[in-house]
Amino acid sequence: MVTKALQKRDIVKLIKPEVRKLKAYAIDETPCRIKLDAMENPFPLPEEAQVELVEAVRHVLINRYPDPSATKLKESIAELWGIGTMRMVLGNGSDELIQAIILAFGGPVLIPTPTFAMYELTARALSQDVISVPLGKDFSLNPDKIIKKAKTAQARIIFLASPNNPTGNRFSDEAILKILTKTNAAVVIDEAYFSFSRKTFLPVLKDHPNMIILRTLSKMGFAGLRIGLLTASQKLIDQLNKIRLPYNINALSQAVAVAALRRRDLLNMQISLLISERQRLYNALAQINGVTVYPSETNFILFRTTT
Ligand code: PMP
Repeated sequence: MVTKALQKRDIVKLIKPEVRKLKAYAIDETPCRIKLDAMENPFPLPEEAQVELVEAVRHVLINRYPDPSATKLKESIAELWGIGTMRMVLGNGSDELIQAIILAFGGPVLIPTPTFAMYELTARALSQDVISVPLGKDFSLNPDKIIKKAKTAQARIIFLASPNNPTGNRFSDEAILKILTKTNAAVVIDEAYFSFSRKTFLPVLKDHPNMIILRTLSKMGFAGLRIGLLTASQKLIDQLNKIRLPYNINALSQAVAVAALRRRDLLNMQISLLISERQRLYNALAQINGVTVYPSETNFILFRTTT
């Protein structure tokens, strides 16, 4: 029986104050004709490719746990992006890896603002301090300000989404390299939009033991599969693997992703089309009076209206 005393007790008060203060990550589900707000690839796969995916799941044994190392999927991603399979941690979306990084390193967490909301939300949910350093007027990084703040606050992680969400621009290589070499923090370079910028820090990863690179399959066309990955020095990978939940990539996602990544031709076509359409849309927006449009190296465009 539920007594009055029990009814009166506010169980929510047992939730950590940091969590109670948070606002949930807002996902708008208003029905609309063309959904644009989640930076997905808008093109579905053609029917014959869908059939290949169905075929891929036919043999998945869902009574068994998935391959904990997701070996085949790692091999497919290695082939796609040239990242060694031993140097990969896969996540249920890169969101999960952001959480794993913060769990492993703790805070303070330094972020430039505006940037991807999950860095701050996750840090706060994990009771870590967040330090923000505003981007410049043109959304550029000020490395000296970041280095100074990171030092005084003793930041343990710096998240740099490059290209950045929601501004769409990529940060300068010099600024990022300066931050990497002049701070003691782990510097996470989130290359979620790599397919659309085609620029990466991967070749210099070996020179920076404090660098972590994040990627995701979401933006290139597989947001529904929830697959993200990080790569870093072997030492860091070994530590982060301790935090990763076993079986975090489900068997269906593993099988479908392996099959979908075989259709590289289709993906490349879709991505090239998005890049050329981005330029067309940018040019059209730039023609409109009262609209300020910002350059984008992603699959979305930020613009400001003055009226
Ligand atoms: N990083 C950035 C910069 C993003 O914009 C997003 C998605 N909006 C993510 C990470 C998360 O991607 P995922 O779908 O892999 O969790």
